[in-house]
Amino acid sequence: ETLTVNGLAEKLHKDVSEIIKKLMFLGIMATKNQDLDDDAVELICSDYNVTVEKEIILEDTDFDKYRKEDDEQDLIERPAVVTIMGHVDHGKTTLLDSIRHTKVTAGEAGGITQHIGAYQAENDGKKVTFLDTPGHEAFTSMRSRGAQITDIAILVVAADDGVMPQTVEAINHAKAAEVPIIVAVNKMDKETANPDRVMQELTEYQLIPEDWGGSTIFVPISAIKGEGIDELLEMILLVAEMEELKANPNKAAFGTVIDAQLDRGRGAVASLLVQDGTLSVGDSIVVGNTFGRVRAMVNDLGQRIDKAEPSTPVEITGLNAVPQAGDQFLVFTDERKARQIGETRQQQHIVESRGSQAKISLDDLFEQIKQGEMKDLNVIIKADVQGSAEALAASLRKIEVENVQINIIHTGVGAITESDVILASASNAVVIGFNVRPDVNAQKAAESEKVDLRLHRVIYKAIEEMEAAMKGLLDPEY
Ligand code: GDP
Repeated sequence: ETLTVNGLAEKLHKDVSEIIKKLMFLGIMATKNQDLDDDAVELICSDYNVTVEKEIILEDTDFDKYRKEDDEQDLIERPAVVTIMGHVDHGKTTLLDSIRHTKVTAGEAGGITQHIGAYQAENDGKKVTFLDTPGHEAFTSMRSRGAQITDIAILVVAADDGVMPQTVEAINHAKAAEVPIIVAVNKMDKETANPDRVMQELTEYQLIPEDWGGSTIFVPISAIKGEGIDELLEMILLVAEMEELKANPNKAAFGTVIDAQLDRGRGAVASLLVQDGTLSVGDSIVVGNTFGRVRAMVNDLGQRIDKAEPSTPVEITGLNAVPQAGDQFLVFTDERKARQIGETRQQQHIVESRGSQAKISLDDLFEQIKQGEMKDLNVIIKADVQGSAEALAASLRKIEVENVQINIIHTGVGAITESDVILASASNAVVIGFNVRPDVNAQKAAESEKVDLRLHRVIYKAIEEMEAAMKGLLDPEY
């Protein structure tokens, strides 16, 4: 906001004529309703020994405010973005490598594969984008920051090992995010491979093959031998088509940070996934709480490019600071606007340190229910044995409180882990531990993410507490 001579006089509690005289001394002929520039204000104030603190213009920093709705006719098909999940040692990394080797034509294009957080593979001339970090932790930690980038999850299950705890976690994380799952039954080359057992075990989680009357796609593969990779890609393309993944390449780019770090020579380097629009070199961009202009752009083959369309991963330089994975970015056609919004976001970020966003807690649950904000109460249960987890889940589902539904989004055996807390944070859930405790990392994460952990040793106490919280009868904790 600019200040008039009159306005300045009022702020300084001085006579307008006095200010006008001082301005004349400075060679500025001004009337009382004239706007003063910052320098003039500064000079006058220093004359009165008053220091000027410029008010930061609080731009609306919500990207949604600046993104326009698309006309249906402007939307075109875009490649699917895929995350590979599954239990440790079931072959996620091997599969990512195998796809990269067989389906990325690095040699032909004259490039060398570059690890920028994601890569694009090609099958029958159609592209698929794979996120390079396997596992549900990265997936869900991004989601807890408001970013949803995965369109399809590949659930890798080793045929010689079957469904394991992290398989179940992965299923629940994908389901919570409403992402379709394709099952890759891996290690089919092994003599002990038993794909039927895998299919049987997965029916318990509503992943039922088409032959058995379900709708889940199962693809037998051997990641290590590169067998079944073509079929897997075909299935991904099929699901992508059903999902009708579209974007509008003819507008300012929007997307998410997959990875970022400080490079000694190049400054802040960020790997971005363009989700909509086209990102170009020279664009003015706000990335999370950082901003700048896209100085250089490199693709997953290490080639310099100057344009990146939807679903393309790129690495860029030119930001004023290092953003965080999961941050969203938006391009602004007006460079000044980008700077203002970037600066405001930076300020806001300093004020409200990350993670302080209020999450659901049993103590204020009733308030939220009363205000009609809470229709689904998401709960994660960890217990010492599966039987207790199930018993507790069954009892909780039976609690009846007007208009509120309890959703058990995950149950598991063992200590409460960081992954549980991140899932809770992303899904705005409460974690109940029955005869188990959070490990150190989970405790830390719960504090920073403000996730409510409730520990119990007696089932009916856990149920009683939940019921009381929903009815607003909980004794306040001190
Ligand atoms: P991740 O922990 O899920 O990423 O699993 P890795 O990709 O690191 O694989 C774990 C182990 O399984 C490694 O020793 C791999 O060589 C092996 N492995 C992965 N895929 C296959 C496969 O298709 N067949 C066989 N026999 N071994 C595999």
